Amino acid sequence: MRALVWEGAREMAMREKPEPSVGPGEVLIKVAYVGICGSELSGYLGHNALRVPPLVMGHEFSGEIVALGPEVESRNPSLTAGQMVTVNPLTYCGTCVYCRNGLNQLCYSRKLIGAARPGAYAEYVTVPAEVVSRLPAGMSLRTGAMTEPVAVGVRIGEMAGKLDGESALVVGAGPIGLLALQVLKAQGASRVFISDLDAERLAMGAALGGKALNPRSVDVVKYVKEATGGLGVPVAVDAVGAAVTRAQSVAATRSAGTVILTGLHEETSAMPAAEIIRREITVRGSFAYSPANFAEALHRLEQGTMRLDPWIVEAPLADGGKWFDRLVDAPGDVAKVLLVP
Ligand SMILES: [Zn+2]
Ligand SMILES: [Zn+2]
Repeated sequence: MRALVWEGAREMAMREKPEPSVGPGEVLIKVAYVGICGSELSGYLGHNALRVPPLVMGHEFSGEIVALGPEVESRNPSLTAGQMVTVNPLTYCGTCVYCRNGLNQLCYSRKLIGAARPGAYAEYVTVPAEVVSRLPAGMSLRTGAMTEPVAVGVRIGEMAGKLDGESALVVGAGPIGLLALQVLKAQGASRVFISDLDAERLAMGAALGGKALNPRSVDVVKYVKEATGGLGVPVAVDAVGAAVTRAQSVAATRSAGTVILTGLHEETSAMPAAEIIRREITVRGSFAYSPANFAEALHRLEQGTMRLDPWIVEAPLADGGKWFDRLVDAPGDVAKVLLVP
C-alpha cells in the first residue's frame, strides 16, 4: 500500500509499505479521509518527543472496515466488515482507575495511533476494536473524519460548564479555537471574543459568530475588560499555548473565573502565579476527550451544530507534505486539511 511517511524534520515522502495484517482484537480499516492536526505540525518540525521518525502519522480519520481479526466479536460485537467508522485514536487499558471512571484519556498506558503505532496517512490502518465507532446512518465519511477535533472542543465545553448569557474569550483561531468558540456558544455564552494574529483565521472566527480581536491593533485584555464592565470573562480558553497567550488568558479572566489551557505550543512557560492566587482563578488543563465526549462529538456532527466548513480543504495524500509546509508557514483561511489516500 501507499503511505505518507514522516522521515525527519520537514521531510515527508510517499512510500510503498506492506499492507498491515490484523492481530487479535484489531480491525483493518480502508482510510477514506484523514485530517492534519496541530500536534502533527509540531511533530513534523521535530518538536514532539512522542513522535519518532520514520512514522506514519494521522489520527483524525474515517474509513470502511475491511477485515476483522480474531476476538473482535467478543471485544466490540457491533462491528462487521463494510461498516463506515471513525476511531478514537487514544488507545487505553480499560482497567486502570482512570479508565474505570470514564477518563480514558488519562489512562496510565494510553497510546496515540499515529504516534505510538502507525496511523492513517496510508491506504489502510489497523486499530483496536474497542476504539472504533460506527458513523450514524447518513453521516458522510468526510464529516466522520471531523469527530476527533470536535471531541476536543466538546471536552473544553464540558470544563467551561454553563455560561448562560455570559461572555467568554478564546485565544487562538486555529481549528481547536474555532471549535471552542462554537462549543462555548452552545454552553450558553452570549458573546465570545476570539483573538489571533492572523487576519484570515480571525475572519473565520467572526464568520462563526465570534467577536474578532487582533492583538496587532487592539489591546485584547483591555478590550475584553472594558466590554465586561471592568470584570473580565468568567471563562477564557487558551488554544495556542505560548507564554504570552497563557498570561493573556489569566489577565482577561475575572476573579474566581476559570482559565482552560488546551494549546500545547510551549512545553513550559512562566505563569502569573501571584495573580492567579490573589484573584482565585482556577487554571485547568483540557486534554483530548473522554469516550463520552467522543460519542457526543459524533452526535453534534450529526445535528450539524459544530462545523469547520467552508474552510475544509480536501487534498490527495501524496500532497500531504506540501500541506504540512503550508500549514506551518502560512495557513491562511484553511481550518482543516483532509487528506484522501
Ligand atoms: Zn488531533
Ligand atoms: Zn487505563
